[in-house]
Amino acid sequence: METKTSPLADKKYRMRFNQAMREKGVPAKACGSCFVVKGHGEFSVKRGAADGRVSRCRTCVASASRRWVAKNSERKAETNRRWYEENRDRAAETGRRWREENRERKAEYNRQWYEENQERKAETDRRWREENRDRAAENVRRWRAENPEQVAEHHRRRRAAKAAATVTPFTPADLRADWEEYDLYGCFYCGGPAEPLHVDHFYPLNPADEDATPGPHAVDNLVPACETCNTSKGNRDPWAFLSDALAARGVDLDACLAVFDVE
Ligand SMILES: [Zn+2]
Ligand SMILES: [Zn+2]
Repeated sequence: METKTSPLADKKYRMRFNQAMREKGVPAKACGSCFVVKGHGEFSVKRGAADGRVSRCRTCVASASRRWVAKNSERKAETNRRWYEENRDRAAETGRRWREENRERKAEYNRQWYEENQERKAETDRRWREENRDRAAENVRRWRAENPEQVAEHHRRRRAAKAAATVTPFTPADLRADWEEYDLYGCFYCGGPAEPLHVDHFYPLNPADEDATPGPHAVDNLVPACETCNTSKGNRDPWAFLSDALAARGVDLDACLAVFDVE
């Protein structure tokens, strides 16, 4: 087992080494995480990569999942669930009381605001769109094409709102930073490349089990997944699905949890 003292721990050196292996036609390379040289079979396929493989070996990708599991083990999830539930009830109660007390005033305020702003603005917008139909459609198309992350996030938030799930606001950069911290580069479940990327709610927004609490739309509940895993997971119990997925990779989830589940 090589360690961080290996010359292959140096990224530039490793890139040159892997390039040399490629040029010689050797089907092996150094893993970007453990730096051990392994056969291509130990790396998931990644279309578009110079050697057609991801940079981390299957063992390292699997241990990234294990570390995430450690962070989000069931007990912590349970604490989160309870916190969300308690705060949702409390927030709902406060909101309800406030709305009751301020219903009249709020209605008047809303009416005035709409009258003064909405109508005029809507009318201006409507007229502009009518006169510039093609440009308006083109603007929407362009914005969507240039902001795929915002569009996807918008859809996810709408789904979360529809499912009455708790939403903890975050930016795409927050999510990427969290995944980087836990080395979540490929599909969280099968370890293959997550291309196209599916952002999976680990605890589903609409759990198949009606007694289960919907998962929050929050960084802690989102993992990268490939299309196949995301689709076959659906609204199933996430721990059952993860257990099956890890078993297919030779990883025993219960054993992992037992190791990490220390007081
Ligand atoms: Zn490795
Ligand atoms: Zn997958």
